[in-house]
Amino acid sequence: MVTAGVVIALMMVAICAVVLYQSRVDATERATDGLRNIAAMAEHDIERNFELYALSLQAAVDGVNDHEVMAASGRLRNIALFDRAATASYLGSMLVLDANGNIVFDAAGEVPRVANFADREYFRVHQQRSNVGLYVGHPYASRLRNGSLSIPLSRRISHTDGSFAGVVLLAIQLDYFRQLFSTLSLGNHGAMVLMQQDGTLIMRRPYDEKVIGRNVSNASTFKEHRQKVEGSFTDVSVIDGVRRLYYFKNLRNLPLTIIVAEAYSDIYAAWWQRTVTIAGVMLALAAAFIGLSFAFGLQLRCRMRAESKLAMLAQTDGLTGLHNRRTLGEILNQEWRRARRTRSMFSLLFVDIDWFKVYNDTYGHQAGDATLAAVAKCIGDNIRRPLDHAARYGGEEFIVVLPDTSPDGAIAMAENIRVAIADLGIEHSGSEFGRVTASIGAATWTPEQDSDVSAVVRVADQALYTAKATGRNKVELSMVQVG
Ligand code: GH3
Ligand code: MG
Ligand code: MG
Repeated sequence: MVTAGVVIALMMVAICAVVLYQSRVDATERATDGLRNIAAMAEHDIERNFELYALSLQAAVDGVNDHEVMAASGRLRNIALFDRAATASYLGSMLVLDANGNIVFDAAGEVPRVANFADREYFRVHQQRSNVGLYVGHPYASRLRNGSLSIPLSRRISHTDGSFAGVVLLAIQLDYFRQLFSTLSLGNHGAMVLMQQDGTLIMRRPYDEKVIGRNVSNASTFKEHRQKVEGSFTDVSVIDGVRRLYYFKNLRNLPLTIIVAEAYSDIYAAWWQRTVTIAGVMLALAAAFIGLSFAFGLQLRCRMRAESKLAMLAQTDGLTGLHNRRTLGEILNQEWRRARRTRSMFSLLFVDIDWFKVYNDTYGHQAGDATLAAVAKCIGDNIRRPLDHAARYGGEEFIVVLPDTSPDGAIAMAENIRVAIADLGIEHSGSEFGRVTASIGAATWTPEQDSDVSAVVRVADQALYTAKATGRNKVELSMVQVG
């Protein structure tokens, strides 16, 4: 009962654990999907804006190579060179530099600001190589705009013979990325990074100006996403020690990588709350279930014990502890049938205490009861074979059933019992023997006879009567009459 209860309770807990684990896996999958969507949204926004910037750059390059544009007045020329760029948001400056790095045309006004950018990385890249195309440079602090952080987007201008003629530059304020990142929902401890393919950080959320432009190509998170276009991984941040689920995406058309991360503590927050509640309730239920089955098992055991005790009491004579009359009837029937089936002999002893009425009258009923119990014990002690049974027939009369026993065996057994009773030496002044004795009538049934079991009892009773009539304290045997 208890084992079954424990097994069922454990199964309940196990099923609950599996379901909770599954919902944890689901939470991870949902978080990965969410991160993938955020990365896709950021990618879409960045690529769309960069496409506009690239068109603007190309228009400027085309304009510089166009004699008619170059021949136009300052205002018209600026409109032709920079008009589309003017609509782009977060545009820092847009400049056309000559082969020496000086500003020739400036989207900010017809009269270009005076500055030289020959030292800038993007300038040197275009100067040295003609086939760079659209170049996305590293973050820098703008000299024209009070150190505002920007990244350069540039194209080379070439002379007709292919030699270097200058650079068209479009500076994108990093505020664009900062603004974009802040609009995306990432949980309380989420993180987001935009980096270049060489590992240079362009933007990071949470924002920290110091890390912009830093190269993180040595970090494990960087190495992780080099091989594939996109994917997810788990890592513990070296900055804040928070364990996060990362999703990286290498942009399709730009040399940039977006990494979005959500803290596992945020991903599992709702799950944890649910788990604590459900697991608590489940464990309490399981414990209650085990407790109940334990109590039930205990009850059942008590009841079974009481039942078997009752059954024993129902079979036993209260005073002597021997089988009672009802049980004797069952035993007789059973042994009788068996004797007939196996065609074996069957003996029966009828034991009656001598002058017991006188004993009662002399010593009182209580002493009589004690003597009855002593005699019964004496009879019981003389029965050794497991198939032999002794029962109280009634009053001071006992019957001993001896299956598979010959007349000689029955007489020997009866003699043993008679002597043992006399040897108890219980004083009996009303008896001519001076002590408590018993007379025993024996009967044996053989397979040749077809009489029933009550006839055997009757014959034993007759033998007892003979024993009484011929002096008492003796054994008499009668064979059952045929017929
Ligand atoms: P006999 O030698 O011929 O057997 O004489 P007896 O007195 O034993 O014969 P009888 O059968 O007439 O008397 C049986 C007596 O046994 C009657 C009763 O006083 C006594 N007796 C029967 N049952 C009990 C009992 O449960 N307790 C006690 N104390 N006495 C009992
Ligand atoms: Mg009697
Ligand atoms: Mg008697």
